[in-house]
Amino acid sequence: MYSVVNKKIKLEHGSIKKKIIAVASGKGGVGKSTVTVNLATALAELGNKVGIIDADVRGFSIPRILGVSTKPKAVDEKEIIPPEVKGIKSISMGSFVDENSPVIWRAPLLGGALEQFFKDVRWGDLDYLLLDLPPGTGDMPLNIMQKVPHADILVVTTPQVTATKVAGRIGKMAEKMKLNLLGVVENMAYYQCNNCGQKEYIFGENGGQYLADYMETELLGQLPLISELRQRSDAGQPAIFADPDSLISREFIKIAQKL
Ligand code: ADP
Repeated sequence: MYSVVNKKIKLEHGSIKKKIIAVASGKGGVGKSTVTVNLATALAELGNKVGIIDADVRGFSIPRILGVSTKPKAVDEKEIIPPEVKGIKSISMGSFVDENSPVIWRAPLLGGALEQFFKDVRWGDLDYLLLDLPPGTGDMPLNIMQKVPHADILVVTTPQVTATKVAGRIGKMAEKMKLNLLGVVENMAYYQCNNCGQKEYIFGENGGQYLADYMETELLGQLPLISELRQRSDAGQPAIFADPDSLISREFIKIAQKL
């Protein structure tokens, strides 16, 4: 069931010097898309050329979080110029449909969209291509992982037991498919009081480390639950663009340095 299909999708209008990173999570709402966009901006801040494919074609949210305000442009029938935000190129189903309308295409069509995102987009020479996978371990993320067996998997989780348990299945899936696991990012790891500085472990403690140990990989970082991040995501102003020296920006840069 998990066998690697020997049909890697390749970029036809560009190249990747360093890595394709597929960002996965066991369930929705753990901050996978937020982490994808902020790591992309952190990698760009470190001097890398970065692209993002919003492979969460049903639950797309990259354009909103990254602050994409223009549409992709078709140059001819086979080539699409992706929108850019401060040098970061991105492509999403969200650019082709209205944000408020549900995507009701069936899986084969959605899979086709992903191939187009790889093949038809003029990516140019990139250092990193980040893929925001659909959440969970269902057919959609599985199909994508099969098509990009050359991607490294980064798993986002909260410390909560329920989240780490389901995220553990991604590790097993990656192992069976012989994909390389890059590590775990623990999001919403703690809340730090603005007044007294005390840390509160709202979703429990050490879940990220537990998951990393279980999957025999590295815990790449622990991000706080911080309203600034939510506000900036809602406003389409990634933290690093707004203030590269803020606490949360520095946390993302620390993780990006390990990628
Ligand atoms: P997913 O992609 O896993 O479904 P999102 O990235 O859409 O999750 O995040 C879910 C919600 O949580 C969003 O409103 C986002 O702004 C918020 N969020 C994510 N990470 C944090 C954080 N560390 N602190 C505060 N809010 C966060």
